[in-house]
Amino acid sequence: MKKLVVITGASSGIGKALAERFSKLGHPLLMLARRGDRMEAMKLENAICRSADVTDYQTIEQAISEAEQQYGPVDLLVNCAGVMLLGTSDKQSFAEWERMIDVNVKGLLTTTHIVLPKMIARRCGTIINISSTAGKKTYTNHSVYCGSKFAVHAVTDAFRQEASPYNVRVLVVAPGVVETELLSHTSDEGIKSNYEVWKQQIKGGLAPEQIADCVQFAYQVPQSVSIREIVVTKTLQED
Ligand code: NDP
Repeated sequence: MKKLVVITGASSGIGKALAERFSKLGHPLLMLARRGDRMEAMKLENAICRSADVTDYQTIEQAISEAEQQYGPVDLLVNCAGVMLLGTSDKQSFAEWERMIDVNVKGLLTTTHIVLPKMIARRCGTIINISSTAGKKTYTNHSVYCGSKFAVHAVTDAFRQEASPYNVRVLVVAPGVVETELLSHTSDEGIKSNYEVWKQQIKGGLAPEQIADCVQFAYQVPQSVSIREIVVTKTLQED
C-alpha cells in the first residue's frame, strides 16, 4: 500500500477533489472536516473520515495518531480547510475576522505542529498548504482573508527553510478563483453578487480537479525536488 495522505477540508471543493485524486492513486487517507456525512458519502477505499474542527488540537492529534497506527506515518499533509468571508473593514463583524484567522491560520498550524516534527525526525515528508492569490496581493473586501493567506505564505516559507535540511518539503499552492462552495459563506449579499458578476467576466473559475493536478504534480516529483510555490489561475483572471 502507498503512504498515508492527510487532507483537511476534505468534505467539499478542492479538498474533496484531492481526496478523490489521492484515493484513485492508491493512497490511504485521513479526511478531516466538520461535515463527516459528506466525507462518508464519498465512500473512498482505505479512507478514515473524521468529523473535526481544524482548530481543535486534541481531536486532530487523536485522529492523526489513529490513522498512523492503521496506515503508517503521514507522508503528505495537505492543509486545505479554509473560509473566505468577504466584507468591508467598517461593517464586517469581528466574529467573521476571528473565524478566518482561526481556520485559515490556526487550523494549518495545528496540523503542522502535530506532523512536522515527526517528518523531520524521519527525514521525509511533504506538507502542501493551499493559500490563494489573495496571499500574494490584496483585493478590496478581502482584508482579513488576505491577511490570513499572507500568513500562510509567510509560515510556509519559514517552515520550508527550517525543514529543508532534513529532506522535508513544505510548499504552497496559491489558486485564483476556483468553482467551489467558498463564496457561499460570505454574508454580505451585495459583495457576493458583485463577485459573481466578476467571475462571469472571466468565464468562471478553475475546476477543483485542476488544483488537484497541481498538488499531485508537486507531490509526485522526487523528494529531492521542491516545487516551492505554484500560483495558478484562469488565464482570463488578470489579478
Ligand atoms: P469550500 O468551501 O468548498 O471548502 C472548504 C473546506 O474547508 C470544506 O471542506 C470545509 O469543511 C472546510 N472547513 C471550513 N471550516 C473548517 C473548520 N473549522 N474545520 C475543519 N474544516 C473546515 O472551498 P474551497 O474548496 O474553495 O476551499 C479550499 C481552500 O482553497 C481554502 O483554504 C480556500 O481559501 C482556498 N482557495 C479557494 C479558492 C476559490 O476560489 N475557491 C481560491 C484560492 C484559494 P466543513 O464545512 O465540512 O468543515
